[in-house]
Amino acid sequence: MPRRSIFKACRNCGALVKRDADVCPVCGGSTFTDDWEGMVIILDPKESFVAKVLGKEKAYIYAIKVGGF
Ligand SMILES: [Zn+2]
Repeated sequence: MPRRSIFKACRNCGALVKRDADVCPVCGGSTFTDDWEGMVIILDPKESFVAKVLGKEKAYIYAIKVGGF
């Protein structure tokens, strides 16, 4: 079994989506990668320091790092 079983990360915005998703629900992108690390759940982007640091504007689950870093 792969280490990261059920999620893949959107290459554009880093959102974690289920493996069978075709389109990112956050940015609408359609390119994904299995090369991601870390996970952060952003519930309230306007109040979240983490959201500001990562530049996220929408409540969702994101990978902290996405491929190529
Ligand atoms: Zn996305």
